[in-house]
Amino acid sequence: MGIEEKLPAGVLLTSVEKLVNWSRKSSVWGATFGLACCAIEMMAAGGPHYDMGRWGMEVFRASPRQADLMIVAGRVSQKMAPVLRQIYDQMAEPRWVLSMGVCASSGGMFNNYAIVQGVDHVVPVDMYLPGCPPRPEMLIDAILKLREKIMHEPLGANGRKMLEAREARGDVP
Ligand code: SF4
Repeated sequence: MGIEEKLPAGVLLTSVEKLVNWSRKSSVWGATFGLACCAIEMMAAGGPHYDMGRWGMEVFRASPRQADLMIVAGRVSQKMAPVLRQIYDQMAEPRWVLSMGVCASSGGMFNNYAIVQGVDHVVPVDMYLPGCPPRPEMLIDAILKLREKIMHEPLGANGRKMLEAREARGDVP
């Protein structure tokens, strides 16, 4: 009997998926992209005191082609929205978006025509982080939660949609 017949169905694919997701979550590189006051806390999180190198995240990339994670740190003006979208489009898949702070997530106190009322109108958001501004510890907590999400993401072009469906069913721990 060959090894394929001895193994339960799907065991090989599941192991490959875990390995790939483990390597993805272990080297999430952020795009250098700060918009307002929240960006100061993001920069603080990138300093030696918080040591993001513990999770393979010590480098923020100036080129979107080398970045996996867009941290939208601050309010998004209508003028900046197309630029943000262009940077997102230049990032290779798989890519993730973290909306940092109440302004990025909903416009916050800036309920006016100049500010986008939630960055999810411009790009899909994987993780929302509340606060004004969220402290570096909160940002790190959100990143760790995003890493858990990455670990459960099925491989393939529809991986994110499948994960959302699993989450809606409550299948993701
Ligand atoms: Fe500034 Fe607060 Fe808005 Fe962040 S959430 S951009 S700290 S006003």
